[in-house]
Amino acid sequence: ESLFSRKFSDSGEESLFSRKFSDSGEESCLSRNQSVLYRKSSPRKPSSYLIAKLRSYEELHKRCGPRTDSYKRSLKQLKSGQIDHNSTDCKYVVWVADCGLGNRMLSITSAFLYALLTNRVLLIDQKQEMADLFCEPFPTTSWILPEDFPFKNKLGGFNQKYDHSYGNMLKNNNINYSTQLFPSYLYLFLSHNCDHHDQLFFCDQDQALLNQVPWLIMKSNVYFLPSMFLMSSFDQELDRLFPDKETVFHHLGRYLFNPSDRVWGLITKYYQDYLANAEKRIGIQIRIFSAKTSPFGSVMDQILGCIQKEKLLPEVDTEKSIASPSKNQTSKVVLVTSLFQGYFEKLNKTYGEHPTKTGEVVAVYQPSHERKQQSWENSHNVQAWVEIYLLSLSDELVTSAWSTFGYVAQGLRGMRPLILYKIGRAIPDPPCGRGVSMEPCYHAPPIFDCKTKKTVDTTTFVPHVKHCEDIRWGIKLL
Ligand code: GDP
Repeated sequence: ESLFSRKFSDSGEESLFSRKFSDSGEESCLSRNQSVLYRKSSPRKPSSYLIAKLRSYEELHKRCGPRTDSYKRSLKQLKSGQIDHNSTDCKYVVWVADCGLGNRMLSITSAFLYALLTNRVLLIDQKQEMADLFCEPFPTTSWILPEDFPFKNKLGGFNQKYDHSYGNMLKNNNINYSTQLFPSYLYLFLSHNCDHHDQLFFCDQDQALLNQVPWLIMKSNVYFLPSMFLMSSFDQELDRLFPDKETVFHHLGRYLFNPSDRVWGLITKYYQDYLANAEKRIGIQIRIFSAKTSPFGSVMDQILGCIQKEKLLPEVDTEKSIASPSKNQTSKVVLVTSLFQGYFEKLNKTYGEHPTKTGEVVAVYQPSHERKQQSWENSHNVQAWVEIYLLSLSDELVTSAWSTFGYVAQGLRGMRPLILYKIGRAIPDPPCGRGVSMEPCYHAPPIFDCKTKKTVDTTTFVPHVKHCEDIRWGIKLL
């Protein structure tokens, strides 16, 4: 107990979490208190303004969250289609799941920041596939969308064509500005393939309208949060919340995503069994999007090239084989995560069969090789979350270009990773390079100016939004 509080007060991270979590009667969340024993405490402190904002958000969520009278009154509006400003002042963002776990965690974080900025309550439609991955983030209430939510079974099927989407309502002139009769709900489609009309969400004048609508149902699979930093409606508030723009996901991610006890048990067991005793932990995340464009041999050469160039691991002496364990106690452990086993096998063989030239002992581990992405499977997502978290406990991190799985790990870790650049016709030279920011990349940002509706390079607007290292047209905070 005292250890936790001492370490916590050193880190400043404690302040992200409300004291109220320690009240008796709370659901258990071991990771919230114990994470400090496993991962480096963050040297990047959250602003006191952010902390105050989170506390007041927690109050709002408690007042408007599931099962409250305000929630029930707000549901009536949703069902009737009539907005009654006198019955409740609660407004909501309902987040709908799409794609893999990394994508989901990034879009939830974006939806949460939007909720913070617009005084809305965030509810997530996690479905069974995401059940029991995370602790409840807000004390004495829930962020899970209740089962009796009117559209509950239809949400998954909402797509871009849904006629109640904001984009389609605009396209079909179904929003009547002059009568001030706004719908009680709107669907926002903000996934990577959303179109120009959907993206008008990112314009200040559209936010003024959306502000009138109590229920926003949002589907997104991307980290759309950087675009909010380009909007004048949120500008000043964001400056106060995040004087350090590189830490938005780092702080919000650590605040929102604490592994459930079930997942925490798996994380800590694996850590104790394989990683705890090493002097240095190196995480290598290998994401293959296409076996055709990223053949095994090329990716393997790229990884070895990166290890060598960055001096991540000592070279092996291939003339010798390992006869007796090294007396030198320096040890490095490599945590490989991948859907496939081949990369691990090659590294494990290399360091298992030959001694290193420096005498250091290198061990290589891979927790799973699931072969295929199966994001509709709960146990598969548990494994993904375990590995993302384990990667975030690394001292050094190598990630794959384009992968949100890696973005989440680097953000939770609080580190600019070494990025394995996307393979084109040849292995990139250099094979990897240090990211300029620990922030995730927004893969599909709008590229128009809201005032002129002309195409622009939005990275010319403010100094803290730039193009990503791994995706030319993406944008990120730094
Ligand atoms: P992205 O596609 O790389 O941006 O990351 P996502 O997390 O959104 O989707 C990929 C999904 O594939 C993950 O959520 C996992 O379900 C699975 N996956 C990909 N790489 C790994 C891995 O290294 N380990 C595990 N356990 N699952 C992985």
